[in-house]
Amino acid sequence: MEFWLDLTEEQNDLREWVHGFAESVIRPAAAEWDEREETPWPVLQEAAKIGLYGFEFLVNTWSDPSGLSLPLANEEMFWGDGGIGMALSGTSLAVAAIYGSGTPDQLVEWVPQCFGDAADPRVAAFCSTEPEAGSDVAAMRTRAVHDPVSDEWILTGQKAYATNGGIADVHVVTASVDPALGSRGQAAFVVPPGTRGLAGTRKLRKLGLRASHTADVFLDDVRVPGSCLLGGRDALQARLARVREGRRASGQASMRTFELTRPAVGAQALGIARAAYEYALEYAGNRVQFGRPIVDNQAIAFALADMRTEIDAARLLVWRAAWMGRNERPFTAGEGSMSKLKAGEVAVAVTGQAVQILGGAGYLRDHPVERMYRDAKIYTIFEGTSEIQRLVISRAITGRQIR
Ligand SMILES: Cc1cc2nc3c(=O)[nH]c(=O)nc-3n(C[C@H](O)[C@H](O)[C@H](O)COP(=O)(O)OP(=O)(O)OC[C@H]3O[C@@H](n4cnc5c(N)ncnc54)[C@H](O)[C@@H]3O)c2cc1C
Repeated sequence: MEFWLDLTEEQNDLREWVHGFAESVIRPAAAEWDEREETPWPVLQEAAKIGLYGFEFLVNTWSDPSGLSLPLANEEMFWGDGGIGMALSGTSLAVAAIYGSGTPDQLVEWVPQCFGDAADPRVAAFCSTEPEAGSDVAAMRTRAVHDPVSDEWILTGQKAYATNGGIADVHVVTASVDPALGSRGQAAFVVPPGTRGLAGTRKLRKLGLRASHTADVFLDDVRVPGSCLLGGRDALQARLARVREGRRASGQASMRTFELTRPAVGAQALGIARAAYEYALEYAGNRVQFGRPIVDNQAIAFALADMRTEIDAARLLVWRAAWMGRNERPFTAGEGSMSKLKAGEVAVAVTGQAVQILGGAGYLRDHPVERMYRDAKIYTIFEGTSEIQRLVISRAITGRQIR
């Protein structure tokens, strides 16, 4: 079998198309929405109008058998801006949960509703993290209890840091159905638009990604139809029975979602890193000190060489994991986690170095590297912190229960 890294014509076209939107629409709007700390609905509407936000876009990118289309699109979108990029991508976390745990019928029913339509785009939220259950997903306290009379599930609890929480039409909520089984006793539920008892009460004010809405979500006796249990009741009961008998069950709902999304999240970090690197490269060629452009100093040029090398290394890990995920190759060495770990750490290091190369100018809001530096930091924290990625990788390569 041949090996090459050239992109296909379709992939190149996709990249150019998304880049064009990022350059002409996202980047010019970035500073304004960062300051406003609000979801940029007009940008979402424009993206939906041209087919860059919506069910069809996701189907097109997911149908690429190489798995590269989604990371390619994400890198360009987040090159435009991290906050607006997340406003456009937050929905896909809920979609990934439905895709990862739902039946084909549930996929068809709920995924289009997550996005709304081109004339009236909507967002969705995936609510897993809780005040007492961040990295420790097994500590989840939100409960789901089945009411056999009405065949409804009743959800009660509190979720933290939900992207699009409270402003979403569709919320996907994870909850414990059997607390005695820890993380293996959890399931994911769709909470349909307008369901009573769900409230995104507190909008959170953040360091970065400020154009993306983040909120705590409260669930007060939220009743959803039995059909909203992702995967269905028979599959859940069979899974719980396997766990109770001590047989292996296939991981918990949140973990399945995160495994699917890690390379795509790594690509987001990569986009922010590349944007900061490109800006610093240009600035270093123009900024004159001691009678010559600062780039003529090895200290600056070597820093740029390292930034570029790290970005390219991270991209190769992202592409590998995306290809493996799409082609159902098992992540035997935690390759999905490797891609997110590396890209997140590179984004933090590269954006920090970009600020350094701009000097005082880099510290000001007049230049986008200040915002990129703030936006990048989340990539060592959400979707599994860097430490949790290292835990996944180290457990995979040693076969031991590293703590
Ligand atoms: C902007 C933003 C958006 C988010 N969006 C969503 C969302 O849409 N949906 C959702 O469900 N969640 C979301 N999150 C939550 C995010 O996934 C969590 O913040 C993350 O998983 C970490 O959990 P925590 O904040 O409770 O940190 P903690 O788990 O309390 O961790 C604190 C520190 O301890 C370290 N640590 C913890 N356990 C270990 C260990 N065993 N070994 C070594 N180190 C350890 C961590 O790495 C970290 O450095 C979002 C968060 C933010 C900030």
